[in-house]
Amino acid sequence: MSTTIQTHDLSMRYGQTEALHEINLTVPEGAIYALVGPNGAGKTTMIKLLMNILRPTVGGAEALGVDTQRLAGEVFNRIGYVSENQEMPDAMTVEALMDFMRPFYPRWDRELERQLVRQFDLPMKRKLKHLSRGMRMKAAFASSLAYRPELIVLDEPFTGLDPLVRDELIESLLERAPETTIFLSSHDLAEIESFASHVGYLEDGRMLFSEEMTVLAGRFREVTITLSAPAPLPPKLPSAWLLAETVDCVVRFVHSEYWGEASEREVADLFPGARDVEWESMPLRSIFLAIAKTGRTQNHAAQTTAGDGRPKA
Ligand code: ATP
Repeated sequence: MSTTIQTHDLSMRYGQTEALHEINLTVPEGAIYALVGPNGAGKTTMIKLLMNILRPTVGGAEALGVDTQRLAGEVFNRIGYVSENQEMPDAMTVEALMDFMRPFYPRWDRELERQLVRQFDLPMKRKLKHLSRGMRMKAAFASSLAYRPELIVLDEPFTGLDPLVRDELIESLLERAPETTIFLSSHDLAEIESFASHVGYLEDGRMLFSEEMTVLAGRFREVTITLSAPAPLPPKLPSAWLLAETVDCVVRFVHSEYWGEASEREVADLFPGARDVEWESMPLRSIFLAIAKTGRTQNHAAQTTAGDGRPKA
């Protein structure tokens, strides 16, 4: 399968702020890739670098096989880009916007344009400045999807939209998905969970993971071990075990590298006195929470210890 977006140690600094740190990301052709992360994680910076709105401090990226620093002119006929606060020619009506944009795109599909206008129930004679937030976003989507771009890049497209509008927009994306690669950012996991094929998690400018949703769901398990008698946790636990804790006879942790029998044997070796071990699949939200909490714990440990686990003097 070929690659639509590839980054190489992509890094960006704004003065003292390191917004992105050595990001190596691969987005396969046809993927619906969701870049998720809290406010300030670096999502918009990443998208602006990919769209050649910003220049990286270090590293680089390719989109549709083109060095992003050379993205210009005709390549943008193959890319649809919609940002959260999309600037639009406000004095134009929706109809005038479509008439204005059509000649720029050789691949513009009039029939698809009509279909999108119907699907979104767009008021063609109304000026863009008089549209609600949801309608504005629908107009931006319609004008970006109608030329059948090979890559659609969306920066927080659903923020502030009601669930109905959001579902309509998602549906329009899914209809394009077989022929188009979609790259979108969001700070809301629930928003992307139902339709993204790949997910990347960015925090403080660092990519904590980037993988297929199904692989991610497959490798995480919530583990509950019931012991015959209370016992402390072994001093050295595998690094893939997150948030381990023990209360009386019960040990709980999140396994982030579950490999079936091999993982089950590992638990049996460390807890030979276990009466029962439960391995539960985790919803995506719990997986992200576990990762986020682990990150915070590690950051906290790094800040409060001398780097070798000893408290800072
Ligand atoms: P949000 O979800 O709030 O939009 P984000 O994940 O898109 O956040 P960015 O907007 O990329 O994050 O910001 C990443 C970091 O870079 C933040 O610490 C932000 O304050 C900083 N930053 C972004 N733009 C600039 C700028 N022009 N000058 C200085 N710092 C900036």
